[in-house]
Amino acid sequence: MIRFKKKIQTFTYLSPIQGFQPFEGKIEVRWDPLTRLTSRIVHFPTKKFEKYHTDLLPKMAPPDTCPFCPQNIPTMTSKFERTLFGKERLKFGNVTVIPNLLTFDKYCVIAIISKEHFMDMADIVNKGYLVEGIRVLINILKRIAEKDRTVKYLSINCNYMPMSGSSILHPHVQAIAGEVGTNYHRMILKKSDLFFKKFGECYWDVLKDCEYEKGERVIWATENTFWYVPFAPKGNLDIGCIFNKTSILDLEEEDLNDFKEGLRKVVTYFKSENVPGFNLSFFSAMPNSGKSFKANLRILGRRFLPPLGAADTNYFYTLHMESTSVILPEEVAKEMKNICVE
Ligand SMILES: [Zn+2]
Repeated sequence: MIRFKKKIQTFTYLSPIQGFQPFEGKIEVRWDPLTRLTSRIVHFPTKKFEKYHTDLLPKMAPPDTCPFCPQNIPTMTSKFERTLFGKERLKFGNVTVIPNLLTFDKYCVIAIISKEHFMDMADIVNKGYLVEGIRVLINILKRIAEKDRTVKYLSINCNYMPMSGSSILHPHVQAIAGEVGTNYHRMILKKSDLFFKKFGECYWDVLKDCEYEKGERVIWATENTFWYVPFAPKGNLDIGCIFNKTSILDLEEEDLNDFKEGLRKVVTYFKSENVPGFNLSFFSAMPNSGKSFKANLRILGRRFLPPLGAADTNYFYTLHMESTSVILPEEVAKEMKNICVE
């Protein structure tokens, strides 16, 4: 039912690193078992990245001018119309929810998850800020879905640090909901549905079984979460998590507790690899929408490339819709298990 298809091609060149001896460059094209989108894995010995120093960032974007710092929220952030939630800004403990200034979807909201202007990756995870923000956004999305029955797609997302595309340093998480899903979101829902119609089983459950059988990419599993490195990754360090529930709106305390534990491991691993930023996305079906889908998550480590601080995505991804990685997913899984799974 699931096929891990790959094709390896080589190109020999005279390498300056090896005294211009012939070197066989190797590219591995891998097909994502669900979407059939390809990823390219370049076999190239990479050395560990230098630690990225964050000292300058709060100077470049100081608290005075930060809209998400507590003293600026009343004057610098947007407010909801009262008809939507009965309040203009929503407060839940340390979390404040506001509309995104940029309307990317029919509903586009931001959870500011800390009072602190700048926080280390490990702190936002280990101290519970990120998961608390996600818990709050799940509740907001529930209210949106109950209020507006035309909403068919919803997701929770996070860009952490500028290399991930985040323009605001202050820790925050975002949710989008609307009638038109993103390309990838629409694709995985549709393909999961087709898989279920063809085989009578949920792709995500079958994937878990296949990954267990292969044993090369499973990192960790609990009663409610399954952590793995996807066969066709979306970048260098791409970690996936599959929940037992169909929708993120169905996630309960036990799911979020397991998720938090897994996230701690991911962050421990990213830090050990000197990866300073990440993108995180939860993909979801609507509640009660059948048995073909499982809520799932991808977390992709992001970094600037030396010496210029270049972006770690290029024309392959932006124009060709093709992901690339210089590390084999099986290596990522092995390394991560060594570092943070007993
Ligand atoms: Zn701030």
